[in-house]
Amino acid sequence: MGYRIIPLNTGTIFVDQGVYCTMGRGNGTIVGIPSTAWCVTDGTEHVLVDTGMCDTERANRWHHQAVQPEGGRIDLQLMSRAGIRPEDVGAVIFTHLHWDHCSNMKLFSNARYYVQARELAFALDPTLPPYYKSYEAPVLGIEPPFAGCDFVAVDGEYSYNDAITLFPTPGHSVGHQSVAVRTAAGTIVIAGDAVFVEENLKGDPEHLLEFLPIGRYVNYFDMWNSFKEIRKRADIVLPGHDCRVFQRKSYP
Ligand SMILES: [Zn+2]
Repeated sequence: MGYRIIPLNTGTIFVDQGVYCTMGRGNGTIVGIPSTAWCVTDGTEHVLVDTGMCDTERANRWHHQAVQPEGGRIDLQLMSRAGIRPEDVGAVIFTHLHWDHCSNMKLFSNARYYVQARELAFALDPTLPPYYKSYEAPVLGIEPPFAGCDFVAVDGEYSYNDAITLFPTPGHSVGHQSVAVRTAAGTIVIAGDAVFVEENLKGDPEHLLEFLPIGRYVNYFDMWNSFKEIRKRADIVLPGHDCRVFQRKSYP
């Protein structure tokens, strides 16, 4: 049996559409976007990509107006949507280490944790103060989800196995990566926050733009190149914060 990818919804974050998702389009419109994680499974081997957001109280205290409903925590989502127990997860691959992508990671105690080395270095010491909250830096008086965790810190493209490849897609964060999974439906790329919503890849033809930028990035050039890299590799792209991915229970 080949791999399939099951979307997991760990909660809803309320953001300004034009500031976060689609730069300049939808400014002033508050939208609820999902904090998405993914289960990649062939029935024997179970891999998570990201672990989603924290509980409602912590999210509202440190980040955004947000809600994690009952049953939204990543381990409960994994059980209810995929029928997989946390202790049976062999690996967690992190697209990046922002709070809404790695909360509760320690629930997966038998997993190896994969991240790009550059992302890990920045997360452990976010040198730009506006990013302290994104990475839940200890300087704020809180403990980040990854405190004390051992990672497999990869540098550049990395083959996890024959079917799963990690590749750098910086721009949203310094060491962001995406995950390409070979499936019966072709290559599916889990884009993380390199692509927030499908509109990013539809672009803005009226203004001759091949892509519509995401609103949150550390490097505009990198973001643009990452769009290209994802488009080149993917038959299907799964964006990080688009509620339409939940229209299907699994891909394929
Ligand atoms: Zn992010």
